[in-house]
Amino acid sequence: MSVIATRPGRQGEAMEIDEAARRRLIRTVAEAVIEHADELTVLDQAIGDGDHGLNMKRGFEAVLADLDRLAAQPLPEAVHEVGMVLVMHVGGASGPLFGTLLLQLGSSLPERPNRADLAAAFAVAVAAVKARGRSDAGSKTLLDVLVPVQAALAEGDPAELPALADAAAAATVPMQALRGRASFLGARSIGHLDPGARSAALMVRAAYEALAAGA
Ligand code: ADP
Ligand code: MG
Repeated sequence: MSVIATRPGRQGEAMEIDEAARRRLIRTVAEAVIEHADELTVLDQAIGDGDHGLNMKRGFEAVLADLDRLAAQPLPEAVHEVGMVLVMHVGGASGPLFGTLLLQLGSSLPERPNRADLAAAFAVAVAAVKARGRSDAGSKTLLDVLVPVQAALAEGDPAELPALADAAAAATVPMQALRGRASFLGARSIGHLDPGARSAALMVRAAYEALAAGA
């Protein structure tokens, strides 16, 4: 199998993410989100308007419907195009934000990234999400997962990324929302998991597992 994907851990070594690996990556992330749509809906019912699960499911079903075209493209274009599909189909606050993440990630990645390239591209992408959402970590949003994942990509052990992302999502529970619909609840937003943070953690875990599966 490809040398690939598989080495999210080795600094300096290029990841060779071929078409089969791109297909697995895109499909695994999409299916993880779709499988958890009901859970995301319940989370958004608690501190939002209850549409997050459906928004994300609609977006990733559109991604799956376009899987052949998406996976056939080189990695940067494939990631960028997945972002485009999400922008067009997810809606809500999260569509433009996850869309921006992937549009910018695709624009910043080389075709065969090494770990440092991936970390640098992800940093640019997270900065774009912050700008788009006028937000940062600490406001009980998807950025509370993306920011620590970005730091861990730059420095930590990649094998710990899924658990780190889950813990980062869980850490939104005691936060008060300062951005998005949940912020309208003020202190009543405390005590609930942020739906977008949960989605981000699902996507990180699925992406890591899909890449590691090519090892
Ligand atoms: P909407 O809030 O428009 O109904 P969704 O329910 O799809 O959209 O997404 C809600 C999620 O979007 C929140 O849980 C939060 O993680 C994220 N979010 C909302 N506003 C912002 C923002 N300004 N910056 C970052 N993330 C945000
Ligand atoms: Mg919502």
